[in-house]
Amino acid sequence: MNSKNTKPELKVQSILKNKKLFFVKHIKALAGTPDIVIPSHKIIIDIKGCFWHQHGCNNSKFPKTNQLFWVEKFEKIRIKDTENLKLNKKKGWNTFDIWECITDNHQRLDHEINRILEIGKLINQNYSLNRYNSKQFTIKTF
Ligand SMILES: [Zn+2]
Repeated sequence: MNSKNTKPELKVQSILKNKKLFFVKHIKALAGTPDIVIPSHKIIIDIKGCFWHQHGCNNSKFPKTNQLFWVEKFEKIRIKDTENLKLNKKKGWNTFDIWECITDNHQRLDHEINRILEIGKLINQNYSLNRYNSKQFTIKTF
């Protein structure tokens, strides 16, 4: 779960390199030490293991034994993920998940990364627009 530069991570990294995007790996300064961060887009890419994060795909079959243990384990992981996401959002970083099973398909992964970059751009545009509007509002009021 916390292992670094896993195969799925390397696949994402190689696509980002092809797109000539600068990224940083395993940033301790952000909550949860995100796998990949794209500073220019303020994007965090969280590569999620299908089993540990219970994706619901074929790689995430729920264990047949010790089920109560696993329910609690998965719940803890989910809560931690949400907490990290919120903490990083407060610092202006948007988190996007990439499921491990998607990284098996290069074309699908490339498509997914394009989608993330596009949405990230829209969120940032909206953010600066809101800041601009609130500045204007301040000027009008005072
Ligand atoms: Zn999956």
